[in-house]
Amino acid sequence: MGIVYKKYFHVKSGEKILVCQACKTHFATYDLLISREFHGQYGRAYLFSNVINVYTGETEDRSMRTGLHTVQDIHCAECSTVVGWKYLVAYEQSQRYKEGRFILERTLLHQQQV
Ligand SMILES: [Zn+2]
Repeated sequence: MGIVYKKYFHVKSGEKILVCQACKTHFATYDLLISREFHGQYGRAYLFSNVINVYTGETEDRSMRTGLHTVQDIHCAECSTVVGWKYLVAYEQSQRYKEGRFILERTLLHQQQV
Protein backbone atom coordinates (compact mmCIF):
# COMPACT_ATOMS: atom_id res chain seq x y z
CA MET A 1 0.00 0.00 0.00
CA GLY A 2 2.99 2.34 0.40
CA ILE A 3 3.26 5.27 2.73
CA VAL A 4 0.03 6.87 3.83
CA TYR A 5 0.18 10.57 4.52
CA LYS A 6 -2.35 11.30 7.17
CA LYS A 7 -4.40 14.45 6.80
CA TYR A 8 -5.88 16.53 9.58
CA PHE A 9 -8.84 18.83 9.81
CA HIS A 10 -8.13 22.33 10.96
CA VAL A 11 -11.28 23.45 12.67
CA LYS A 12 -12.25 26.26 14.97
CA SER A 13 -12.19 25.77 18.70
CA GLY A 14 -15.37 24.11 19.92
CA GLU A 15 -16.02 22.28 16.68
CA LYS A 16 -16.16 18.51 16.63
CA ILE A 17 -14.28 16.05 14.50
CA LEU A 18 -15.34 12.45 13.94
CA VAL A 19 -12.32 10.22 14.40
CA CYS A 20 -11.53 6.50 14.43
CA GLN A 21 -12.62 4.95 17.72
CA ALA A 22 -9.56 2.70 17.70
CA CYS A 23 -6.72 5.06 16.72
CA LYS A 24 -8.23 8.61 16.66
CA THR A 25 -7.40 9.23 13.00
CA HIS A 26 -9.51 12.06 11.56
CA PHE A 27 -12.34 10.97 9.24
CA ALA A 28 -14.91 13.73 8.93
CA THR A 29 -16.52 16.84 10.33
CA TYR A 30 -20.21 17.64 10.74
CA ASP A 31 -19.94 19.98 7.73
CA LEU A 32 -19.62 16.85 5.61
CA LEU A 33 -22.57 15.05 7.20
CA ILE A 34 -25.54 14.48 4.90
CA SER A 35 -27.73 12.19 6.99
CA ARG A 36 -27.84 10.35 10.30
CA GLU A 37 -30.70 8.14 9.13
CA PHE A 38 -28.66 5.20 7.97
CA HIS A 39 -28.17 1.69 9.24
CA GLY A 40 -24.83 -0.04 9.16
CA GLN A 41 -23.67 -3.48 10.12
CA TYR A 42 -23.51 -2.44 13.78
CA GLY A 43 -26.52 -0.19 14.11
CA ARG A 44 -26.70 3.51 13.35
CA ALA A 45 -24.57 4.90 10.59
CA TYR A 46 -23.98 8.33 9.06
CA LEU A 47 -23.79 9.35 5.41
CA PHE A 48 -21.01 11.81 4.52
CA SER A 49 -20.23 13.67 1.31
CA ASN A 50 -16.55 12.96 1.85
CA VAL A 51 -14.20 11.39 4.39
CA ILE A 52 -10.41 11.50 4.69
CA ASN A 53 -7.74 9.00 5.80
CA VAL A 54 -9.47 5.91 4.45
CA TYR A 55 -8.69 3.42 1.71
CA THR A 56 -11.17 1.30 -0.19
CA GLY A 57 -11.45 -2.47 -0.40
CA GLU A 58 -12.79 -4.67 -3.17
CA THR A 59 -15.75 -3.64 -5.27
CA GLU A 60 -18.85 -5.73 -4.64
CA ASP A 61 -22.59 -5.70 -5.21
CA ARG A 62 -24.63 -5.65 -2.03
CA SER A 63 -28.35 -6.06 -1.64
CA MET A 64 -29.60 -3.65 1.00
CA ARG A 65 -33.04 -2.70 2.27
CA THR A 66 -33.03 0.18 -0.22
CA GLY A 67 -32.08 -2.02 -3.17
CA LEU A 68 -28.97 -3.22 -4.94
CA HIS A 69 -25.79 -1.13 -4.63
CA THR A 70 -22.21 -1.48 -5.79
CA VAL A 71 -20.01 -0.60 -2.84
CA GLN A 72 -16.48 -0.79 -1.47
CA ASP A 73 -15.66 -1.21 2.19
CA ILE A 74 -13.61 1.64 3.60
CA HIS A 75 -10.73 1.01 5.97
CA CYS A 76 -9.05 3.35 8.42
CA ALA A 77 -5.70 4.34 6.85
CA GLU A 78 -3.96 3.97 10.20
CA CYS A 79 -5.35 0.81 11.85
CA SER A 80 -7.09 -0.84 8.85
CA THR A 81 -10.39 -1.32 10.69
CA VAL A 82 -13.36 -1.50 8.32
CA VAL A 83 -15.28 1.59 9.40
CA GLY A 84 -18.00 1.73 6.74
CA TRP A 85 -18.37 1.70 2.98
CA LYS A 86 -18.47 3.87 -0.12
CA TYR A 87 -21.38 3.82 -2.55
CA LEU A 88 -20.23 3.54 -6.15
CA VAL A 89 -23.51 2.77 -7.90
CA ALA A 90 -27.13 2.82 -6.74
CA TYR A 91 -29.46 1.01 -9.11
CA GLU A 92 -32.70 2.55 -7.86
CA GLN A 93 -33.28 6.06 -9.21
CA SER A 94 -34.35 7.32 -5.79
CA GLN A 95 -31.08 6.18 -4.24
CA ARG A 96 -28.74 7.83 -6.77
CA TYR A 97 -27.85 10.66 -4.37
CA LYS A 98 -25.71 8.17 -2.42
CA GLU A 99 -23.31 7.54 -5.30
CA GLY A 100 -19.79 8.67 -4.42
CA ARG A 101 -20.82 9.19 -0.78
CA PHE A 102 -19.51 7.44 2.31
CA ILE A 103 -21.07 5.59 5.22
CA LEU A 104 -19.35 5.54 8.61
CA GLU A 105 -20.59 3.25 11.37
CA ARG A 106 -21.55 5.34 14.42
CA THR A 107 -20.22 2.77 16.87
CA LEU A 108 -16.74 2.84 15.30
CA LEU A 109 -16.47 6.62 15.57
CA HIS A 110 -15.32 8.81 18.39
CA GLN A 111 -16.35 12.44 18.62
CA GLN A 112 -13.39 14.64 19.35
CA GLN A 113 -13.95 18.18 20.52
CA VAL A 114 -11.28 20.64 19.50
ZN1 LIG B 1 -8.17 3.65 13.01
